[in-house]
Amino acid sequence: MVVKVNLAHISETLKDIVVRNIEDITDHRALPNSSKHNNVVEGNTLIFINENTIEKIKEILLDILTRHSLSEYIVAENTEDENEIVILKQGDMEQFGIYICSHCSMSFKSKNLRSLHERVHYFT
Ligand SMILES: [Zn+2]
Repeated sequence: MVVKVNLAHISETLKDIVVRNIEDITDHRALPNSSKHNNVVEGNTLIFINENTIEKIKEILLDILTRHSLSEYIVAENTEDENEIVILKQGDMEQFGIYICSHCSMSFKSKNLRSLHERVHYFT
């Protein structure tokens, strides 16, 4: 499956950091006898051509943000496109129609849906 990472809402500097680090990581994961990259950059989108899960990419992105002390940024799934991940600055999310659960980072299309979801955390 194809996983896209939308980098349109972050600074050029952060974009460089993400792209550079992603290349390092995915190169290590590539087969030894293969010189092919698993990812390509097209404009503001980073595309993983052969990825099994979106979760793995989210983990890698979060790890990069953490290692560079970029905790003001968050990694969210695009609520309109299930194969797209978006990196946003905290506080900018709601203007893109993304509402994040503060407990588990799941994303929602509206405040109401998030409120409904957040109840599960109070009863478990
Ligand atoms: Zn939650």
